[in-house]
Amino acid sequence: MDKAELLRLDREHVWHPCTQQKDHETLPPIPIARGEGPYLIDVDGRRYIDGVSSWWVNLFGHNHPRLNRALNDQAGRIAHHIFAGFTHEPAVELSARLCALAPNGLNKVFFSDNGSAAVEVALKMSFQFWQQSGRPEKTRFVSLSDAYHGETLGALSVGGCDLYREVYRPILLDGFRVQGPDCFRCPYGRNRQSCDIECFEAMERLVSEKHDEIAAIIIEPLIQGAAGMRIYPAGYLRRLRELCDRFAVHYIADEIAVGFGRTGRLFANEHAGVSPDLMCLSKGITGGYLPLAVTLATDEIYQAFYDDYVSMKAFLHSHSYTGNPLACALAVEVLNIFEQERVIESLHEPMALLESWAPRFEALPNVGEFRRGGMVAAVELVQEKETKTPFPWQERRGLCVYRSALARGALLRPLGNVVYFMPPLNTPLSILEELLGIAYDAIVETTAASR
Ligand code: PMP
Repeated sequence: MDKAELLRLDREHVWHPCTQQKDHETLPPIPIARGEGPYLIDVDGRRYIDGVSSWWVNLFGHNHPRLNRALNDQAGRIAHHIFAGFTHEPAVELSARLCALAPNGLNKVFFSDNGSAAVEVALKMSFQFWQQSGRPEKTRFVSLSDAYHGETLGALSVGGCDLYREVYRPILLDGFRVQGPDCFRCPYGRNRQSCDIECFEAMERLVSEKHDEIAAIIIEPLIQGAAGMRIYPAGYLRRLRELCDRFAVHYIADEIAVGFGRTGRLFANEHAGVSPDLMCLSKGITGGYLPLAVTLATDEIYQAFYDDYVSMKAFLHSHSYTGNPLACALAVEVLNIFEQERVIESLHEPMALLESWAPRFEALPNVGEFRRGGMVAAVELVQEKETKTPFPWQERRGLCVYRSALARGALLRPLGNVVYFMPPLNTPLSILEELLGIAYDAIVETTAASR
């Protein structure tokens, strides 16, 4: 199919995610022909550095020889079979290894097929646990302002980004929302050095008053991704764990975005040394090859469901593609790569390189902050540096950066006024440097007009 025909049919029939389709009148989607390491390559042979790991999923680059082999090997055996009443080695090996690697106490793995589904599973498990543990009044969930946990209705209910949820508000679950950490615009006047996690008081107040109604608190540990890569201290997680223990509330860790090395450790909770009661993983779990998600649970939660069938305590949740063998085989290979290629240890250099760009970005007149959490870094654009006044959202500065970066050969898909980097973990340093340079130039170009 030639490019013109491809784009004509796309315009005619395809409805793209998270997109105002009318924007395609001026910027049509880019048809990708193949991938190679950190690059996406379009049908004309143009290369784009994948600075956002294709929506945070890709860990080791595109068209990876080891992952390709794992996928082909499994395809030669079986692509998929029912996972109720049947099992298979990739799922079993993956489960056992994830439990060994995950924070202590998470010993059971429930499979699903995307991040939102893993969140739905965690919410339902927590709710049902309390129904079956003599506390049926514990039915509500607590989440943070500007949180993002997915787009299905349950996941959206615990989300805090109005952009995605406002229109659906009448059909969402009624939960509690707590003001989350905002270290750039700290309402307590602190900065990252002087912080004593004062902002936790909002959570403490709510939970001490309402714990009888609360089943679980769900959060994105260390980095609130869709909120604009808001990075906050690990101490918040320690305080949260103590609070949950004190008031018999589950701690659900949504490590869908931050898991698998993004924060510089395999899982973000390791930075705090705490274990959640339920943990959701997806995205990087297959290296960005296929959809797969898991919800890890403690033995205590699992035991509340374990009984004779007639007790009706089973967790009767299912998805057709649960435990897909192709995806599980990829996930096993991802763990092999982490182990054999000492990936976590290798992150030292790229993390230092990201950090080294902080002074350059922060010297720009419209950059409010450069922040970094492991292999994630973000540049927050502001209209007015002193007051941290944001650019009006209608100006779509992020979109301007996106366009400018594309023209320069990089995929950077900003979140509002935040330009961020979440590259594949093994992006060569020279390409990472090029990516940062492209972002810098794109920001200079995009903000020049405002002065
Ligand atoms: N939780 C977090 C923290 C996420 O970043 C995302 C996706 N961006 C999700 C949940 C939802 O995952 P999915 O898009 O696979 O449904």
